Amino acid sequence: MCDQCGTAYQSLSQHWSRSQSCEYRSLSGHQREIVRGLLLGDGSLEANDLAYLRCASKRLEHLQWVSDELGWLARGVTYDSSDTYRLRTMSHPNLGRYWTWMEAPSTGYSLTPTAARVWYACDGTLTFGGSSDVPQVVFTATADAKRAAIRQLLAQRGFQPMEWQRRVALPREKTKPWLKWLGEPTPGSEYKWCTDETTYRQLR
Ligand SMILES: [Zn+2]
Repeated sequence: MCDQCGTAYQSLSQHWSRSQSCEYRSLSGHQREIVRGLLLGDGSLEANDLAYLRCASKRLEHLQWVSDELGWLARGVTYDSSDTYRLRTMSHPNLGRYWTWMEAPSTGYSLTPTAARVWYACDGTLTFGGSSDVPQVVFTATADAKRAAIRQLLAQRGFQPMEWQRRVALPREKTKPWLKWLGEPTPGSEYKWCTDETTYRQLR
């Protein structure tokens, strides 16, 4: 449904690109945070004329949740192959400004719980083992520039990130503060909020 003319369209992006009277609706602050969260992880921008965003996962419920958070920007979730689902957004002029995030997030950006929650639900892991009962929050980032930038974003928020083997990890004493900062577990990713190993394995 177009918010300006009140008409339902199969493709709002097409309607807005062709219409004389209706314009592309701007992304809300919440939608921008969801987009940033996806790009911190393994979401990627593609382009026809305009940029759109894609994200793949084996967890359907997770992608459906992301799709709901994106609201009208999302074009839905489809089954791809080998148990993989894909979410994509419509093509939208506001997404063009995030091309640089494909390399690394902007260091002028201050990480929010909204973006971090999406990022962690997509790409964060809890790692058990070692001498401690407390699991560790770990992110994989193989590109050096991206790893350096996400370390900086996490450090600015006081999470004291460490780097090892192309991963960024938080110290174990930061696991619970991190999960608390993010807020409620997200649908399809509840196990990532579970610091008890037995329950974690059951949920996963
Ligand atoms: Zn319209």
